Amino acid sequence: MKQIVCEMCGGKDLIKQDGVFTCQNCGSKYSVEEAKKMMVTIDTSTKLENALKNARRARECKDYEQAEKYYSIVKMEDPENWEANFYSTYSKAYLSSNVSSVKNCIKSVLKDIKKLNDKVQQNEAIKQISTDIFDFASKTYDVSIRNENRILLSTPDMLTSFGETLISEFGENEFTTSINIQCYEITLELLNKLYNSNIDTEFESGLKNLIQQHAEEMKKFCPKSHGLEIYEAAKKKEEMKRIDAYYELEAAFKKEKNGRLIKYFIFVFIFCFCIYICSS
Ligand SMILES: [Zn+2]
Repeated sequence: MKQIVCEMCGGKDLIKQDGVFTCQNCGSKYSVEEAKKMMVTIDTSTKLENALKNARRARECKDYEQAEKYYSIVKMEDPENWEANFYSTYSKAYLSSNVSSVKNCIKSVLKDIKKLNDKVQQNEAIKQISTDIFDFASKTYDVSIRNENRILLSTPDMLTSFGETLISEFGENEFTTSINIQCYEITLELLNKLYNSNIDTEFESGLKNLIQQHAEEMKKFCPKSHGLEIYEAAKKKEEMKRIDAYYELEAAFKKEKNGRLIKYFIFVFIFCFCIYICSS
């Protein structure tokens, strides 16, 4: 990295004003020719390496506060570093369960990964982010089910969008398809989990449609997938509910019938008793 360093004070903050460079630290002024001579190459690689080392260490320990701090440093020094671009956003999102910020960074991160020359490196990077995206999806989902949070649908949205973007950026091949299928599988598992938790009926029918829609999309990529099984399970659940409702109705009807019979017997008893009193 090239930078102009002030001869007088060693300051690096020089701004060009009215055709001359002015040091913001000591006020010295330099002509363009002089400034050119003062241009030095600054070695930032050690700083970058250290920051990356610390960032990875923090990420491995799931210390996302520290990870975000160090990845942001890496990102400043090396703006096209896919790892820093992804994990600075990811770490921050992990702490606040901000699903949409992860979803929004996926495309640009995949584009950065595409710039890596080595195909093996590309695939390693994709594997790594997909593992973390899946981990994040499960974590945020459990939190939102517990809190009955209505952002529940943004997690499946993030997953399917990741799968789709991956295919659109890297094309359809065995590797990308297998990750895309995983995206759908996890999406369906999460939706099914939600479907089996206690949710209100209004939300439930929309959810069932969503499960069916994802199951059918998934079938396109993987005809043997268990997506449809999950859909079938959802359908079965609904059927069971209908059967339950029928039994409930029947029980209520029986109860009412018994109630009427008891009333009838009481009436007959009182009637007979009255006749007995009158006749005696
Ligand atoms: Zn200076």
